[in-house]
Amino acid sequence: MKLFLSTDFEGTSGIVAWEQIIEGNAEYEQGRRLLTDEVNAVITGALEGGASEFVVNDAHHHMRNLHPQDLKGRATLITGKHKPLYMMEGLDASFDGICFVSYHGSIGAEHAILSHTYNPGAIWEARLNGDVVGESGINALVAAHYGVPIIFVSGDKTTARESEGIAPQAEKVVVKHSLGRFAAAHLHPSVAWDLFQAGATPAVRKLGQMQPPAFELPIALEVTFLVADMAEMALWVRGVERAGPRTVKLTNDNLLDLYRMFVTVVTLTRALVDR
Ligand SMILES: [Zn+2]
Repeated sequence: MKLFLSTDFEGTSGIVAWEQIIEGNAEYEQGRRLLTDEVNAVITGALEGGASEFVVNDAHHHMRNLHPQDLKGRATLITGKHKPLYMMEGLDASFDGICFVSYHGSIGAEHAILSHTYNPGAIWEARLNGDVVGESGINALVAAHYGVPIIFVSGDKTTARESEGIAPQAEKVVVKHSLGRFAAAHLHPSVAWDLFQAGATPAVRKLGQMQPPAFELPIALEVTFLVADMAEMALWVRGVERAGPRTVKLTNDNLLDLYRMFVTVVTLTRALVDR
């Protein structure tokens, strides 16, 4: 039984600030340890449930947060930036289940620690067929394309709530209570690890009854940017239409192609972020 883990960073217990999760800061090494321990707790629980093969896609920032030798389960690690399928690189139809580890709320969500949707310097809001989505909802396009269920999600309460639509049957582990964008009350890491293990085991055992996310076609992904120039630049991508001064609409009934269009738009508009 083969599992795909897409690991972000903001949803880890103990994390409340960019300085903890961006390389080059003194606090980063501690953050990296906290994340690694959570990923390993999921793997440990999943092994107990019967999973035997793991691919971990490090999906945060420069995507070199996890050290390969520290991972349990003899996991294959995908690292490094500019991956064609970004947060979902490595997934294909050969997997039995997906875990979203250390995920976080969408950019506009209330009580969501370090909330953003891909790029906080560019994206103001994203909507799939009219519903506001965060990274979990957008990444679910790839899961749906390959027909693989999302069986486990961890982060704060907002993360759990936002994944309800795409993964109603998934085990959801909430490790902190977000008080705002930069403050939270955290479970002690050892308590969180117990919950991860206790959640991942039944997630794997129940996996046969879980459905992959489903989207109604035709499907449109609307992206509203911080400034109009970014929307203008997004129009360079074929199939992207303008839907407002700062908003573009991406359409493609192939869900993988739609996700690829989104990744292209994210990559392009990064050039216009104020620094
Ligand atoms: Zn993220």
